[in-house]
Amino acid sequence: MSNVRRVLHTSGGKDSGAMVLFALELAERYGMEFECLFCDTGNEHEITLEYLHEFAHRTGIKITWVKANFSANIARRRLFVEKSASYTDEVRKRVLQHLQPTGNPFLDLCMWKGRFPSATKRFCTVELKVLTAREQYIDPLLDEGYTVESWQGVRAEESVDRAALPKRSVEDENLTIVRPLLRWPVAKVLAMHRRHNVPLNPLYKLGMYRVGCMPCIMARKDEIYRISSRFPYHIDRILEWEWLVSQVSKKGGSTFFHKDGMSDDVKNDRELIARESGIDGMVRWSKTRYGGRQYSLLKELPLPSCQSEYGLCE
Ligand code: SF4
Repeated sequence: MSNVRRVLHTSGGKDSGAMVLFALELAERYGMEFECLFCDTGNEHEITLEYLHEFAHRTGIKITWVKANFSANIARRRLFVEKSASYTDEVRKRVLQHLQPTGNPFLDLCMWKGRFPSATKRFCTVELKVLTAREQYIDPLLDEGYTVESWQGVRAEESVDRAALPKRSVEDENLTIVRPLLRWPVAKVLAMHRRHNVPLNPLYKLGMYRVGCMPCIMARKDEIYRISSRFPYHIDRILEWEWLVSQVSKKGGSTFFHKDGMSDDVKNDRELIARESGIDGMVRWSKTRYGGRQYSLLKELPLPSCQSEYGLCE
């Protein structure tokens, strides 16, 4: 093995999948070596987890799974709450009664922080993915003296922020971020899967725009609707999480969706946000149209079988 370790970050999504298939071609043509990493946030859809196993099986690659553990952080917060004069006895009792690790990284992160992440406080990506990959996989390689290339399957088409990224950025002396798909259009991503006879994650055909967290804190209105229609048990899970995280929050309340992460159509309806931004309220709102004020009868109809944005039915 060479002194360069190429670590490809996989998520079960189409872009990271295409990146792995592209790397396989480079491996066949030039003998390039690489390895794949998946950070399980604990808020993944079971279809994505199954898909990753299937993807590894079809391509013959090994994907290493890593998961954050926040037990020590929660233990430290317990000590802080026990001693801090900023908590009343009543609040302290409530928080300490519920502040215990559950073993689910996403939930434990929110229990530790006493709140859910939001667009402006997006600690989920940093803690569950960036730092977990660094601490559990990349840093040990650097400590062993390797030079690491961290490959990320982002594309400029996805957002203005991503369009501004360079193809390579040097993090430190021995660590470089590589974005091989930066200028790829989505058609090339789909063609790569077809060429290797590897299907996409089935969640796309079920109308999901992204296959990361289920749901993501920044899900769009129609995504929330589709998730609640297709997978109501994931909404029920978030409802339970909202109750638990509220119990350990100092102010006694925290909702999964925060207004700073909401799309403009949600943000504009300030009355609705003030009234009900908990997940059940957001699901009710997702079934409405015209700024949340009119109930959409159409959305009571069963969903058609394929709603993919990428023309996957063709
Ligand atoms: S997919 Fe969304 S919720 Fe999950 S870590 Fe990324 S930003 Fe956070």
